[in-house]
Formats: sequence, structure tokens, C-alpha cells
Amino acid sequence: MSGTAQSTVGPLAEIHDATTASGAAALFGFVGVGADRRHALGEAALTRTCLDQLVRLFGPEAGKPSRTLLKDWAADPWTATTDDRRPAGHPLTSARSWIAGPWRDRLAVAGSEVSAIAPGYLAGAVDAAERAVSEVIARLMAPADQD
Ligand SMILES: Cc1cc2nc3c(=O)[nH]c(=O)nc-3n(C[C@H](O)[C@H](O)[C@H](O)COP(=O)(O)OP(=O)(O)OC[C@H]3O[C@@H](n4cnc5c(N)ncnc54)[C@H](O)[C@@H]3O)c2cc1C
Repeated sequence: MSGTAQSTVGPLAEIHDATTASGAAALFGFVGVGADRRHALGEAALTRTCLDQLVRLFGPEAGKPSRTLLKDWAADPWTATTDDRRPAGHPLTSARSWIAGPWRDRLAVAGSEVSAIAPGYLAGAVDAAERAVSEVIARLMAPADQD
């Protein structure tokens, strides 16, 4: 079953083959359910609903995994704030400057979200990082202020 599946019936919107390099079979899916609904459902019910969906797609064996792992980043205390519980959608390209005022010439932002070509993606991370490095080099090479 190597490959990918798209589904609109069940919590998993996009499912990928996540078989390990050593050949241990695994399926991975993105949960397309909002944070509040995930919280209300609870981990056990959400996992069961995901497994029911995998059974519909791949057959009964998919309903008896040796292990399941659910990682809810919006509930991760080291990563998320309450703002992350609100669905924000995927970042869009924007011509606006991310930094205004006195910080504009002092701060370089390298996160994927600020990319002008692929925000929120790995390609955007490379693009944003290259631009940030160029900005820093240009500032270091610029003649120092006389004041
Ligand atoms: C589950 C998942 C699947 C994805 N799938 C895809 C995909 O298929 N294709 C795709 O193109 N993109 C995908 N993405 C998006 C992609 O991974 C990100 O857009 C990209 O990794 C962002 O890169 P970044 O360098 O901007 O930030 P990050 O990769 O998040 O790097 C930021 C780094 O800063 C570190 N950090 C944070 N705070 C501090 C601090 N205070 N001090 C020091 N270090 C700090 C973090 O630990 C982290 O290592 C996926 C993302 C997720 C979460």
C-alpha cells in the first residue's frame, strides 16, 4: 500500500505511507479536525475514528495496529499558545513587509512563513533563510554610521 490517500470521510484528510527504513510498516495522517473538536473528542475516540477510516480505506488489518501515536501540536505546552487553537489556514504569499519601524534595518526573519514564494513549506524555509542571510551580509558590509 505504498503511496498516499486523500479522504473526506473521517478525521484524516491526507494519509501517507510512513514505512520506516528498516521496513516496519506504518501509516501517517494529517488530522483535519479543529483543535477544540479534537479536545472535546479526546485522544481515545479520535484515534478510534482514525482507525475506522483506515479500515475503510485499507481493509480490516489497518484497524489492528501494534501501536498508534497521536501528536496534537496545538496542545503541546512547549510549542503552542492558546492562539494556536484557532485555525489560521495556510500562510499566503504577501508583498507586505513583516517588520516595520526602527526594527526594519536591524532584524532579519528567516522562518518559512515570511517567504514570498512558498510560505509554510520547506522550499519557503530555504527561500526565507537565503534572504535573511543576504540581508545580514549586506548590513555587515554596509559602511558604519558616522553618528
Ligand atoms: C507535520 C508537518 C508536516 C509537514 N509536511 C510538509 C511537506 O510535506 N512539505 C513541505 O514543503 N513542508 C511541510 N511542512 C512544513 C515545513 O516543515 C515547514 O514549513 C518548515 O520546516 C519550516 O522551516 P523553518 O526553518 O521556517 O522553521 P522550523 O523548521 O520550525 O525551524 C525553527 C527552528 O527554530 C528552533 N527554535 C524555536 N525557538 C527557538 C529559540 N527560542 N531558540 C533557539 N531555537 C529555537 C526550533 O526548535 C526549530 O528547530 C510540514 C510541517 C509539519 C509540522
